[in-house]
Amino acid sequence: MSDLQSRLREIPQVSAVLEDTRLAGFLAGRRRLWAGRVVQEELERLRARLREYRGPVATRADLHEELVAAVATRCLRLLRPAWTRVLNGTGVVVHTNLGRAGLPESAADAVRTVAVRYSDLELDLESGRRGHRGRLVERKAALLAGSEDALVVNNNAAALWLAVRYLSRGGPVLLSRGEIVAIGGSFRLHEIIAETGSTLIEVGTTNRTTLEDYRRALVPGAVVLKVHRSNFAMEGFTAETSLADLAALCAREGCPLVYDAGSGLLVAPADLGLPPGETLLGDDVATGCDLVTCSGDKLLGGCQAGIILGRAAHVAGLREHPLRRAVRVDKMTLAALDAVLTAYLDATGLLPALPALAALALTPAELQARAEALRDALAGNAPSGWRAQVVAGVSSVGGGAYSTAELETRLLLFSGPHEELEACHQRLRRQDPALVARLNQDGLGVDPRAIANDEVPLVVAAFIDAWAPLTAQGKDARDGEANRG
Ligand SMILES: *Cc1c(COP(=O)(O)O)cnc(C)c1O
Repeated sequence: MSDLQSRLREIPQVSAVLEDTRLAGFLAGRRRLWAGRVVQEELERLRARLREYRGPVATRADLHEELVAAVATRCLRLLRPAWTRVLNGTGVVVHTNLGRAGLPESAADAVRTVAVRYSDLELDLESGRRGHRGRLVERKAALLAGSEDALVVNNNAAALWLAVRYLSRGGPVLLSRGEIVAIGGSFRLHEIIAETGSTLIEVGTTNRTTLEDYRRALVPGAVVLKVHRSNFAMEGFTAETSLADLAALCAREGCPLVYDAGSGLLVAPADLGLPPGETLLGDDVATGCDLVTCSGDKLLGGCQAGIILGRAAHVAGLREHPLRRAVRVDKMTLAALDAVLTAYLDATGLLPALPALAALALTPAELQARAEALRDALAGNAPSGWRAQVVAGVSSVGGGAYSTAELETRLLLFSGPHEELEACHQRLRRQDPALVARLNQDGLGVDPRAIANDEVPLVVAAFIDAWAPLTAQGKDARDGEANRG
């Protein structure tokens, strides 16, 4: 018998693993089907490993122990929620990998109510007749943006796709070569237009597209599309045709104009501490676009959603579109978006009470105070050889919005032995809540911008736990870890 065969012969049977009392107790009454599959997958993994392995042959009992432990770990993982709470120390406010904008408590409450209880989602309580889902939310969006009407769909990609499909009806769509952009991994403008069934007519050049270029490219029945350059900037010999000039041209030629505004900004950039660069949704609508689309979870500060704003007749047509249902949002999304829009309607100061906007608007002085408070809470607990400083740094908006804006911030920066910083960075991610910090050649940094005040004790706890193997109290733990290799 070959060495490999003798290794593989020691692998236990699925049934033997499932019947192990430690797992049997745990799996009692739970569905055997999925548990059996977890065992199968772990067996496969073990087989693959044994095929590679050249060391001594493991006993069946050892392999059994190993499998039971692996299966138990995976089963427990499956019974926990899919996501772990994260403390965002990156300074990227609308961090796509961390769930983009955090919502206000009012939105979480609203979601909970419609999720757990019944609501008048599609019932008119006055008349007792069937009502329209989302109508009031859409009314709020239209009021805030100054448009005749609005429609809420799944995200901005869906909004753009539906708007272009509806207005072009398979005809040509004009788009500047400088705006055939990619946003995120899967949003590529020319592909989306292809999926609307329309034909893309590329206008101008990558760096320059003039009004004359549009005029020359216009054909009867065409739709003109303009897309905001959210995630990149162009410099040098460039020319862009303004939305106002395009609107005038489209009005004269009688062709519809669609604008993908990207972020959905409802407050002035200056009030968020941002440089000029994005236009206000209200101004885009007022320019005379037929339809304007935007995201719900970028600078609007809400949840994933796409909002289409524009002329009442178009929005009514979109509402009746056969594919509208395919991009419809759930009641929980509508409830969250409603709370966010209500925060805008309710705002008496410059900014509505939304966490993402509040984080963007923090001043360097406020950030300095936060970073110092963190330093004071942590410095005494740091491992020997580490140094804590508050230094100037840069945070960013994130979410593919305002890509070139550098927001002045203050970081709590730790320097020390690089392997220790690296190990700590990793252990911080394994805490619950996890802390995602920044590690670079300067050290391990925490940007307090996107950390709420009430999260500070959690950040402190995460560090203290992550430091345990490096500090005196954590010496035993460190030895334990070293022995495990
Ligand atoms: C972000 C963005 C999108 C995609 O929005 P989602 O809501 O993430 O689908 C589309 N267009 C522009 C210009 C954007 O900035």
